[in-house]
Amino acid sequence: MTAAQVETKQFQAETRKVLDIVINSLYTERDIFVRELVSNAADALEKFRHQSLIEKVEFDAHVPLEITIDCDDKTHTLTLTDTGIGMTKEELETNLGTIAHSGSQHFFEQLAEAAQKDVNLIGQFGVGFYSAFMAAKKVRVQTRSFNGEEGFEWASDGGGTYTISPCPGLHRGTKIILELKDDAQTYGSKFTIERIIQQYSTFVPFPVKVEGKTVNTVQAIWTRSKSEISEEEYTEFYKFIANAGDEPMLRLHFSADAPLAINALVYVPKENFEVLGMGRMQPGVNLYCQKVLIYQHSENILPEWLRFLKGVVDSEDLPLNISRQSLQDNALVVKLRKVLTKRFIKFLGEEAERHPEKYLEFWKNFGIFIKEGVTSDYEHRKELGKLLRFESSASEPGQTISLDDYVGRMREGQDKIYYINGPSRMAVEYGPYVEMFKKRGVEIFYTLEPIDDFVLNHLGEYDGKKLVSADRADLHLPEFTEIKPEDETGKENAAPLAADALDQLCQWMKTILGERIAEVKVSTRLVDSPAMIVNVDGYMTSSMERLLKASGQNEAFGMGMKKDLEINGSSPLIKKLSTLRESDTTFAGDVVEQMYDNAMIQAGLLVDPMAMVQRNYRILERVAGDSAAAL
Ligand code: ADP
Ligand code: MG
Repeated sequence: MTAAQVETKQFQAETRKVLDIVINSLYTERDIFVRELVSNAADALEKFRHQSLIEKVEFDAHVPLEITIDCDDKTHTLTLTDTGIGMTKEELETNLGTIAHSGSQHFFEQLAEAAQKDVNLIGQFGVGFYSAFMAAKKVRVQTRSFNGEEGFEWASDGGGTYTISPCPGLHRGTKIILELKDDAQTYGSKFTIERIIQQYSTFVPFPVKVEGKTVNTVQAIWTRSKSEISEEEYTEFYKFIANAGDEPMLRLHFSADAPLAINALVYVPKENFEVLGMGRMQPGVNLYCQKVLIYQHSENILPEWLRFLKGVVDSEDLPLNISRQSLQDNALVVKLRKVLTKRFIKFLGEEAERHPEKYLEFWKNFGIFIKEGVTSDYEHRKELGKLLRFESSASEPGQTISLDDYVGRMREGQDKIYYINGPSRMAVEYGPYVEMFKKRGVEIFYTLEPIDDFVLNHLGEYDGKKLVSADRADLHLPEFTEIKPEDETGKENAAPLAADALDQLCQWMKTILGERIAEVKVSTRLVDSPAMIVNVDGYMTSSMERLLKASGQNEAFGMGMKKDLEINGSSPLIKKLSTLRESDTTFAGDVVEQMYDNAMIQAGLLVDPMAMVQRNYRILERVAGDSAAAL
């Protein structure tokens, strides 16, 4: 080959970073590079198998689908060969020179952290190939695409560059040649390699031959009966299918004959990588037909909110040569998705009853996906309601309960389910919205995540009972027998301000607050707090407004976000304010403004902090003056 044919190229900056991380990572987990390369070879074989189902492949059609591993103890090289789909020159450059996820700084922070803790995790980041450099000082990749174009060799020592040069005479597929590092020569021994294959890659659905001997048993575990499969096998299969190093949290293995013939084995992982900041997860369930992989990571067989599931779905009823396009609107696939989704929701419901602790662990890590389901999956919204969990006024701090628990405890005559959002349990319990619920002994959910109000809003009702936010203006709690704690009797008797004085006060307060408020009204529900903000737009809650504002969307929604200020005629502050208005209108105005700001803060809404602090000082100065004068 002439020098002119060898092209030297720079790795993309992100790839260099990954290489640095891999090369400098702990060596205790080095074995996993074998798993990563075998898994890539198996992927390439699956891709070829599927390709040959949808089009007639002429070139090298006779070459059997398998993975061959050769060890050379003398030259310290390890060679992995697959007869898979291969790569063209362009594919070599994009696949082994750049990183699909690139551009996200966060991705690298996560990757670096994960790799330092446990190199095992890097396969999940889609950069498994580079783990070859944990053991090799030089890696050569010789490959020829199934389309028959002449092959190429990619070579690198893991530094800043790689070379690409023509490599004629190859068969279809990819050969990876590793020149082992001095301290990694054990990978030149077939015993080491056999052990690693047995540990990590027994489920590869193609023969893996080490020095001519097949070392794995090819099997489709999901088609076997449950009673024949051991826990270890299940866990090993999870690790294989999810390319994961951890153990699964939950597992569902089921088969059905009607309305479709299905064998499915799906897992919930232990960690939610999406909340760990890794960006949006790709779907993790593969679609098989009669044990042949049709699509890896198919977007069509499950709704998006189930993208955290890993596993296999096999249906004999699907045509083997179904194409990606027809998968999207194929009636069978639609039916398959329905059956799978319903079955999985049912499974979670059963799990919640059988193993509540475990379900709560699931809820903590993956509840966000259930919530996403409620907002995005109209078809399954109702069933998903059963799986939701929130804290409530009747739950211990930090403990969550279900809508069924709540409904089971509803008071006679109560026909709605109430909730209120806030940043923390403390903030909610000390806020004005919960007072009357406590007083009347009515349970109320505390929705502590900003997204929760959207979720309950989408759900609308549960078990025939409307879901209602307690910051609604038109909230009417029925007069249940009141539960009066001893020490509140005194307050109860305190006479409220006379009706006409209250009326005038409301009107005057409205002139102070102007457009910020639709109306100032006398509250029928406040107990201790002097005032609170309520929402006139029935379907908007303060927390939804907060979220929309934060994402800059409130304008786009074009909503007035109309609010009322409700005041408590029995509150000492309101009574004194009525008098103060006569004697010192300006100062009384400051008090109204401050009361409004306080109520906004309690509703979780933004106020102008500078104006508030200055006003607050004016009020303090006056109070300090009065106290000093009284001495
Ligand atoms: P991932 O497997 O998660 O995509 P890798 O870093 O392991 O990430 O591999 C990067 C890409 O390189 C693969 O997606 C694939 O396109 C290509 N590749 C790697 N090994 C092979 C192989 N043996 N045959 C064909 N393509 C391969
Ligand atoms: Mg890989």
